[in-house]
Amino acid sequence: MTTTDQTYRLFIDGEWIEPAAGAYPIVNPATEQVIGRAPEASPDQVRDAVTSARAAFKSWSRTKPAERAEVMNRIGELLDKYNDELVPLVQAETGATQRVASTMQVPVCIERFRRYARHAVENHDIPLPPQVAQATPLAPGGLIGALAARQPVGVVACITPYNFPLVNMAGKIAPALAMGNTVVVKPAPQDPLAVLRFAEIAAEAGLPRGVLNVVTGSGADSGQALVEADIDMVSFTGSTPVGTKIAETAGRGMKRLLLELGGKGAAVVFEDADVGAAVTGVGSTWAFHSGQICTAPTRALVHRSVHDEFVSKLAGFAKVLKVGDPLAADTVVGPLISDTQRGRVESLLGVGREQGAEVVVGGDRPDISTGYYVNPTLLDGVRGDMKVAQEEFFGPVVVVLTFDDEDEAVDLANGTPFGLYDYVYTADAGRGYRVARQLRSGNVGINTAQRNHEAPFGGFKMSGVGRDGGVFGLHAYSELQSIVWPS
Ligand code: NDP
Repeated sequence: MTTTDQTYRLFIDGEWIEPAAGAYPIVNPATEQVIGRAPEASPDQVRDAVTSARAAFKSWSRTKPAERAEVMNRIGELLDKYNDELVPLVQAETGATQRVASTMQVPVCIERFRRYARHAVENHDIPLPPQVAQATPLAPGGLIGALAARQPVGVVACITPYNFPLVNMAGKIAPALAMGNTVVVKPAPQDPLAVLRFAEIAAEAGLPRGVLNVVTGSGADSGQALVEADIDMVSFTGSTPVGTKIAETAGRGMKRLLLELGGKGAAVVFEDADVGAAVTGVGSTWAFHSGQICTAPTRALVHRSVHDEFVSKLAGFAKVLKVGDPLAADTVVGPLISDTQRGRVESLLGVGREQGAEVVVGGDRPDISTGYYVNPTLLDGVRGDMKVAQEEFFGPVVVVLTFDDEDEAVDLANGTPFGLYDYVYTADAGRGYRVARQLRSGNVGINTAQRNHEAPFGGFKMSGVGRDGGVFGLHAYSELQSIVWPS
């Protein structure tokens, strides 16, 4: 399982299983060449994976946290050891630039296993003060002690999107395993190969059979079968429409949900902002994985007095970004994941033009014969009610809206169905904090696009339900159990 031109198999109950429904091609988004064939799981095989995770739960949930931490640290070590093999594989299937593939796609995955190995051995139970209870017909009175204990939820379905296949997977399975759950992973159809390779690494690290299973498929059938199967929780990262569908299905079985969904991040740029810093922050929408990031500041809300300066600097930034071969060291903007995704971006751009948005930069494809490229695009003159201000591109497109006062800025920022990640740029720390507290968004960066990975991460409104990140991620994969006793 180490080359990129082979047919892969499913990983169920510690075995490599031939897929019942054949295999489908995985295409490099830059070269449009097939780089491997991924297994097409049948619904029965998905259920087999769940059965295997269910069988493994009893013993894995009873292992000592230190044992789980040891396996997870070993996974981290082996990921490090196989880094030079994993980076080209994940680069080829995602089309990520070499810079993103080598600094983000694998190292962040490693870091997540190490982080949750550390958290696994902390005590997450909450002791409560004893309470005086009066005698009742139920029981004699007394001093009753209590503990809120964290228990694993059970079998967790981990369904992930295409942008960061290993990182998204690690963000789910590392905390889930650390808490004593067992998992069935269903990676995105476009780029599941590194996740399949990962399963082999996890087994080599000593993860017992059945604790981790991986099923893949080219369409929604395998994911749908997984959500309907005998699982206890769905941890899903992906689009809001798919998340809504999953929540409806999971709700019927009272399955626990962690949903990390779409975003339409606002960057509010006040008149006193460091415009250069704001340009770099907003420009990350183009410079970081071609805008295929849920947290990207894709809506620049700019005070009228700095609008012209901001747009001119941002346009200048877009023009110097090299678009093209992701393997070239100086490339900043690589391809989108697929022709379908490029079609979505272009179709929304078309609606933007029809509704009167002005294309300042880009809006077209670069002159490159293969690969799913879109040039970094800047749309100005956008109003809050336009489709391009409301819907996610998930591509290298920034829209600019103008405001006159703080209230209007906050209303514009809050005026979409999403609430995942917003940004405030101002020299006034008091205003930055005040505005942040008015934003209906799960995360706010003040004068930075940097993250703190111990902070809770998740969305308000249609951007999701629940939180992961740091210890909050660990808690997301637990049920609170109250244990009481007479003192
Ligand atoms: P999709 O929602 O299209 O797919 C995500 C996953 O869901 C895939 O594995 C897909 O596989 C699966 N899926 C699709 N239909 C079903 C179903 N009915 N039941 C179960 N699973 C299903 O997202 P993309 O991969 O296109 O990723 C882009 C989206 O992800 C954007 O909206 C982005 O904002 C969001 N995202 C959110 C993040 C966050 O943390 N909030 C982080 C990264 C991305 P298949 O189609 O084979 O079933």
